[in-house]
Amino acid sequence: MSLNTDVLIIGSGIAGLFAALKISEYADVILITKKNTAESNTNYAQGGIAAVIDKNDSFEKHIKDTLIAGAGLCNIQAVESIVKEAPERINDLIEIGTQFTRKNNAFDLAKEGGHSMSRILHAKDLTGKEIERALIKAVSEKDNIRIMENSLAIDLITEHHIKTNKEKSDNLNCWGAYVFDCLKNEVYKIVSKATVLATGGLGQVYLHTTNPIIATGDGFAMAYRAGAVMTNMEFIQFHPTSLYTPKDFKEFESKSFLISEAVRGFGGLLRTKDGQLFMHKYDDRKELAPRDIVARAIDNELKKNGDDFVYLDITHKNSDEIIEHFPNIYSTCLKIGIDITKEFIPVVPAAHYACGGVAVDLNGKTSLNRLFAAGEVTMTGLHGANRLASNSLLEALVYAHRVGVSIKDLFQSDDTTILPQIPEWDDSGALSADEKILISHSINEVKQTMWDYVGIVRSDLRLERAEKRMKNLNEETDKLYKKTKVFPKLLELRNLITCSELIIKSAQMRKESRGLHYTIDYPSLALNDLVKNTIIKNDNS
Ligand SMILES: Cc1cc2nc3c(=O)[nH]c(=O)nc-3n(C[C@H](O)[C@H](O)[C@H](O)COP(=O)(O)OP(=O)(O)OC[C@H]3O[C@@H](n4cnc5c(N)ncnc54)[C@H](O)[C@@H]3O)c2cc1C
Repeated sequence: MSLNTDVLIIGSGIAGLFAALKISEYADVILITKKNTAESNTNYAQGGIAAVIDKNDSFEKHIKDTLIAGAGLCNIQAVESIVKEAPERINDLIEIGTQFTRKNNAFDLAKEGGHSMSRILHAKDLTGKEIERALIKAVSEKDNIRIMENSLAIDLITEHHIKTNKEKSDNLNCWGAYVFDCLKNEVYKIVSKATVLATGGLGQVYLHTTNPIIATGDGFAMAYRAGAVMTNMEFIQFHPTSLYTPKDFKEFESKSFLISEAVRGFGGLLRTKDGQLFMHKYDDRKELAPRDIVARAIDNELKKNGDDFVYLDITHKNSDEIIEHFPNIYSTCLKIGIDITKEFIPVVPAAHYACGGVAVDLNGKTSLNRLFAAGEVTMTGLHGANRLASNSLLEALVYAHRVGVSIKDLFQSDDTTILPQIPEWDDSGALSADEKILISHSINEVKQTMWDYVGIVRSDLRLERAEKRMKNLNEETDKLYKKTKVFPKLLELRNLITCSELIIKSAQMRKESRGLHYTIDYPSLALNDLVKNTIIKNDNS
């Protein structure tokens, strides 16, 4: 099968859906997503979306907070422009029906770690679900957006696939993607004049993560293989507080349930297993210090005391208010027998957010022609070395809009009416069921290796070990890939390995501790003139 369209969008989180809405105003869109439309990181976002709304707040304050969190690596133009565009884009969300929580006829703005003001719009503690609901409804009302579920993008199509028209690798175009139909078990191609990568994060690279199972880093890996520039992949944010659950608790098998930052913003206190407060030893802002500091503090307490978890205590707050603010957290904790109004919540850190990714300019353009990107898969320069809470939904929203504008500009200046001839997918070969078992073992090995050696605290030795193990896994998986018909787990394993290698390589390049990257071999910041982004490009592309 082969489909042609104006714009192919890969991903149905906030970035993909919002871009689809904008682009549908002037072009036809096919939006593919690998599970059902709602399954995305967006759907699980609890805390909210940051924007200057309160009259006592200011753009300058939001910019300053973002820059402080970013530890010297933010792109000031990206920060300023995103913060200033935020109110307008939030208004777009409200116009399509997103219901943010209100109190006394005004938005109930929450405060989160690292923010100097209350500026987080939220829909109780189910913000992402509400945004996703409103976007899916709006998109489904557009006749020229075709949503294809259970459709997993395998690789971006570039000149490398057009054998008769091989161009120099520094001038590649993206002409759509090869896609795996997860229901029919076959590969087809979607050929497009422009492609938007909106595939979200890569948390599944790690053993413990708050990210859902879709977050296998497919977009990062596809972009890298296609030759796009990748930046700052070492900066992985570990959320300090995911619910510590008994191993046999099936509901949380492949992702940890997040206990939102907003709980600490609401007054939650961190205690060791024997009930002692400890954040005052690490930072003057205590529980409201940025996530990297809180995550490292917890990691340190766990290692020092040999414990599996610390506690988050909210019991001193009014019970009704707790239930009113955090209905989802309250009911989820109750399922494992914890009443958070009366009992401490056991928590551990978990991989949460990728600050680096596919490098895009201020307009959402990647280094490949006709390939645009928005959302967690990108590196826009907003987060620098560390993301400020609730800035990611905002970044995805703003860049989805900008991508819409950029593609319109491209189409206005571009006379491409004939799409190139793209060859069919070559899928000769077969895989026995026995070998499929190897895939799940390798996935576990990737996750364990990354957790043990490339986690919250790193070192040269740990990174070297991770590099060696990943090289083996890569060789083994590559052999399988070349001789088999593809299937989702194999494709995801391949992507998890590529993402792991990018993270390891970038971490090895950074000879300092900055933001989310902490290594015991270089525990301080490098001198100012050495402060720069890590950049990786696939020279074989
Ligand atoms: C538990 C949790 C809580 C969070 N809370 C907040 C918060 O309060 N505030 C905030 O700002 N941020 C929060 N974040 C981060 C934020 O949710 C994400 O960064 C953001 O939603 C990313 O949006 P996105 O559109 O880029 O990607 P996603 O929402 O992850 O969507 C990615 C989409 O791409 C699809 N996809 C992936 N690979 C493929 C492929 N190969 N082929 C086809 N489709 C593919 C997926 O199925 C999915 O539809 C949270 C994240 C998590 C996990």
